[in-house]
Amino acid sequence: MGARIIDGKAVATAVRERVREEVAQLVADGGRPPALATVLVGEDPASQIYVRNKHDACEQAGMRSLHHELSAETGEEELVELVGRLGLDDEVDGILVQLPVPDQIDPDRVVAAIDPAKDVDGLTPTNAGLLAHGMPGLVSCTPAGVMELLRQEGVELEGAEAVVVGRSKLVGVPVARLLLGADATVTVCHSRTRDLDAVCRRADVLVAAVGVPRLLGAAAIKPGAVVIDVGVNRGEDGLCGDVDFEAAAEVAAAITPVPGGVGPMTIAMLLVNTLAAARARV
Ligand code: NAP
Repeated sequence: MGARIIDGKAVATAVRERVREEVAQLVADGGRPPALATVLVGEDPASQIYVRNKHDACEQAGMRSLHHELSAETGEEELVELVGRLGLDDEVDGILVQLPVPDQIDPDRVVAAIDPAKDVDGLTPTNAGLLAHGMPGLVSCTPAGVMELLRQEGVELEGAEAVVVGRSKLVGVPVARLLLGADATVTVCHSRTRDLDAVCRRADVLVAAVGVPRLLGAAAIKPGAVVIDVGVNRGEDGLCGDVDFEAAAEVAAAITPVPGGVGPMTIAMLLVNTLAAARARV
């Protein structure tokens, strides 16, 4: 293996420590600890773990977290009403509705009901629009985590060829917009892209956010590329990414592992966003 492993755990730990120190300073200056409200509908075990991890992270950072757990039968109106109430609650700085929500609920309507100033997941149309216009706002946690990893790695983005595989609202599109904002030349691929490997092979920076186990192998990697694998796929042999790690690591200069790459950054950036939201409300 030739590639350097990008240690997302270590970068996330450093970010979380920085947030913890800043929260401690805020409180020492007489401020209230930032508070994150999470909302979970139903009992999906993976979502329960994600939410628990977010609460633990808040606690470690000295933040408050409030949890609302609703039954799987909850109606859309009830959820929209709760999200609206949290928006008006002065004690709440950040609101996170854990996705996916059950089928009877339109996630877009729920997300649009979140107060953009408390939208720590950066998913409301307002924050997505601000990002699209290159204006400051709360940026979706996983894309922000991807950018933080690239920054910490010292990757030169100005003028670089960046290829993003995936065009979801959650990951692909915001990552592409952030890379564009960093002056990369950005190509976005999706399920209809012709000759995916050939397009990916142009990339100095390749970001995979697809959800297909080991879709991208050595043939998709430009020698010396930096590869960021956002994919989290559960297989019989545990977790794997969208990139064939072993094969890609023979060609790339640096690569994120799965797990231990982008994953830990998502929670770290949630804390960054919650602190930023709290500061902006003071
Ligand atoms: P998504 O909404 O399902 O979007 C997947 C994207 O991949 C779509 O744009 C789709 O294209 C494209 N795609 C699917 N098959 C393809 C193929 N064979 N070739 C090229 N493109 C293809 O998924 P997502 O929410 O963006 O998540 C992507 C992955 O990231 C998942 O594995 C998810 O678990 C992971 N994830 C990880 C974190 C983390 O914290 N590490 C956070 C969020 C997501 P079309 O648009 O044409 O359908």
